[in-house]
Amino acid sequence: MNIIEIIDKKRRGLTHTEEEITALVNMMESGKAHDYQIAAWLMAVCINGLDMDETTWLTKAFVDSGKKLDLSGVGGVVVDKHSTGGVGDKTTLALLPLLATAGVKVAKLSGRGLGFTGGTIDKLEAIPGFQVSLSTAEFIKQLRQIGMAISSQTKDLAPADGKIYALRDVTATVESIPLIAASVISKKVAAGADVIVLDIKYGAGAFMHSLEDAKLLAFTCREVGARLGKSISTVISAMNQPLGYAVGHSLEVLETVELLKGEGSQDLEQLCLRLAGVALVCAGTHPSLTEAEEALKATLHNGKALEKFRELIVAQHGDPYFFQEHALLPQPDKILMIPSAHSGYVANIDAMEIAKAAKLVGAGRLTKSCPINLGVGVLLRKRIGDEVRVGETLVELYAGENDPKEAIQVLKGAFSYSDTPVEPPELVAEVMLGEVYQAKAATP
Ligand code: URA
Repeated sequence: MNIIEIIDKKRRGLTHTEEEITALVNMMESGKAHDYQIAAWLMAVCINGLDMDETTWLTKAFVDSGKKLDLSGVGGVVVDKHSTGGVGDKTTLALLPLLATAGVKVAKLSGRGLGFTGGTIDKLEAIPGFQVSLSTAEFIKQLRQIGMAISSQTKDLAPADGKIYALRDVTATVESIPLIAASVISKKVAAGADVIVLDIKYGAGAFMHSLEDAKLLAFTCREVGARLGKSISTVISAMNQPLGYAVGHSLEVLETVELLKGEGSQDLEQLCLRLAGVALVCAGTHPSLTEAEEALKATLHNGKALEKFRELIVAQHGDPYFFQEHALLPQPDKILMIPSAHSGYVANIDAMEIAKAAKLVGAGRLTKSCPINLGVGVLLRKRIGDEVRVGETLVELYAGENDPKEAIQVLKGAFSYSDTPVEPPELVAEVMLGEVYQAKAATP
């Protein structure tokens, strides 16, 4: 079957065979299928979907397009966490030290920000000297030595996903449940961890807008993972307002430090403890989520989590002195206070609009090669449910050299109000625990 017939089959809503899916990925890899043909197929998938078998075959073809990381020599249980992307999501930065304090190994390959989502690798680059690109040997050595390592996603793992993701990003074909599941799970399978936790976001600032779609994505990820031999845990969390207070690179690094000192915002702390707790239960270190979360919370208050973060930064050649001297991080040109024009209660803060404002001042990129300003962003002073009076600061805009006028307008429009008290929204909507990891007996 040639590429045109494969595209035509999906356009007509028919079901592919495994051979067709494998052939499509191979044709893309070898250059026999052009980008515009793959893009046409992606659009047909967005409209007509892929069933669970097709999604599994696509995931497998992505995995088989590259190498697999062999973490068997690291020792202990290796944990990996992935988020489907949101606004102000700095959970990965906090989870590395949090989980490492509990004695599991945390192996994290992360990406850069694209579109409205921020990238963990960009955030880490705000830390002076931090080396974001480790070779496989350095990655494994660091995992053995300090129990955690983070590096930019290597091009050898699931490279076909990398190519398809780049095409999806510019053809409005990101928001497809089977395509997201294949993309995420292929990278997780190739990265070789024993315990995998996915944070599936839903709401205005996420790829999944409804809880129903988020549940379907979570189910698809677990099912595809299981079919490829990986037990996957999923946590579904709300992304209507940004997570925590900070959106922007330096700002998010500083908010992570506050969290690790036990002084973080409640929602950020709750989600970090839940994600890390799920990982620990599945790693077999704690019998219940409550016990795992209690143990993790203690490390936020006894200095251990922050100390572990310092260890990570030093291991990757960063300078942790910014913990005391915030000005060592990239700084904005100016900080503008945006006052409220209303009195009442904050009813909603549209995460997508906040992301847009951050991007307007230079925190986000339009294409992969766009430079970004690590010192700019948005600091929320009010959150959903907070009382506010006219003239009180709603939000601080950390602006660069761009004219901030449009960003200010966008920020003002992101807030809506109520005259009566508003309950802050539920953050974690669903937790599905994977299997507890059983180390395979060594072969005699
Ligand atoms: N994150 C990914 O890695 N892939 C997607 O398709 C969406 C979010």
